[in-house]
Amino acid sequence: MSTKKKNYDSYFKDIEKFYKIKSDYEHKYKKEKDKIMGNTNYKTMEEKREKLSKFKSKCVGCKKKVNMIFQNTPDFFSITCGDQETPCAMNFKVKKLKVVPQYPLITTLKKEIDQNVLDIIKLKLDVLFAFSSESEIGVNFSNIRDTYMKNNKIYRNTLQTYTNTRNREDKQEEIQRKKIELNHNVNELKEMIEKYKQTQRDEFITEVNQIYIDKIIPLVEKIRELTSSFQKIEYSATEEAYKLIKEPYTIHDLETFIKR
Ligand SMILES: [Zn+2]
Repeated sequence: MSTKKKNYDSYFKDIEKFYKIKSDYEHKYKKEKDKIMGNTNYKTMEEKREKLSKFKSKCVGCKKKVNMIFQNTPDFFSITCGDQETPCAMNFKVKKLKVVPQYPLITTLKKEIDQNVLDIIKLKLDVLFAFSSESEIGVNFSNIRDTYMKNNKIYRNTLQTYTNTRNREDKQEEIQRKKIELNHNVNELKEMIEKYKQTQRDEFITEVNQIYIDKIIPLVEKIRELTSSFQKIEYSATEEAYKLIKEPYTIHDLETFIKR
C-alpha cells in the first residue's frame, strides 16, 4: 500500500473515530435528558430544564463529569476535555487535509450532512417540546444551518466531478481503439527513424515529420479529448526512442482541491 493511500486511510479512520465518540456522547446526553423529562418528581418544565442544565457528561479522558468539547472547523476536527480550570491531557485533533481523493470525501461529506440534518431536527424538536427556548437555540441554529449549506455545496460539486470522471469509462472502447492506432503510428515512426539512422536519407525524416504531424498529433488530441487526461509522446534521449506516456485518468482527476 502506498504511503499516500495509508495516510488517507488513517485520516478517514480518525474522522470516523471523531463521529463515533461524538455520537456516543450525544446518545448518553439524550438518555439522561429523556430520564429527566420523564421524571414525575420534577413538577414543572422549568425544574426539568434546570436539572438538565446541571447535568454534565463524562469526559473519555479523565472520566470526570465535566463534558467534552467537540469542534469541527474548516481546518480541523477536535475533542478536548470540558474541564475549564484543569482539563485533562485528552486531546484528539485531526487536521483536515487540503487534497483528498474524491470517493472517501463524498462518503465523509454525506455523513457530515446527515449529521447536520439530525442536529437541525434535534434543535427544532427541542423548541417544539420546550426543552429550549427559541432564543436559546438561535445562534446555534444559524451556525448549523450555515455549515449544512456549505457542506451540501461541496458535496454536490464533488459528486458532480466524480460522476463526470467516472463517465469517461463509457468512452473506454473508443479510447482503446485510438490507443491501438496510436501505438501503431508510434511504431511506424520508430521504423522511419531506424531507417534514417541506417541510410541517412532525408526522405525518412520527411516521413517522420508527416507521421508525427498528420497522424500522431491529431490522435493524441482526440485521446486527450476523450479522456480529458494526461497523454503525450515523449522522446527519451537515453533510450533514443519515442514513448507513449499514458494514464486512463490522472490521480489528480480523482482528487479534489478544497479551497479554504
Ligand atoms: Zn477530561
